Amino acid sequence: MSDVKHSDPDCIFCKLVSGKIPAKKVYEDEDIFAFHDINPWAPVHFLLIPKRHIPSMAQVGPEHVDVLGRMMALAPRLAQEQGCRPYPEGGFRMVCNTGGDGGQEVHHLHIHVIGGPRPWVKG
Ligand code: AMP
Ligand code: ZN
Repeated sequence: MSDVKHSDPDCIFCKLVSGKIPAKKVYEDEDIFAFHDINPWAPVHFLLIPKRHIPSMAQVGPEHVDVLGRMMALAPRLAQEQGCRPYPEGGFRMVCNTGGDGGQEVHHLHIHVIGGPRPWVKG
């Protein structure tokens, strides 16, 4: 949506992107940032976000197709680099909580990538 702000000064993930809050970075390019979740559920747990502030999947429009597609395509490579074992024995989980009923706590669109050998802390 064209009225979505590119950065929100009150958003914790925008602060991670700008470096105002430290992140354990996994990956960065012009449009995408990935970092380790501060409260991991599993041996591998990182978050993939667009650098641009999009509150959730509920605000996604045609202008976001490119960045979302690239995030999805990047996930398997980063998952393997971070220690997820190969498919099919290994693999990983991708989760995108959206809104209150979806369990979203941070309102900057993010995809959880969760994996590594079980047992996991959660999930
Ligand atoms: P969600 O419930 O999908 O909105 O998940 C938000 C996730 O962000 C949670 O798994 C948190 O542990 C994670 N998180 C919150 N603050 C930070 C931070 N400063 N650095 C890394 N991960 C964070
Ligand atoms: Zn943000």
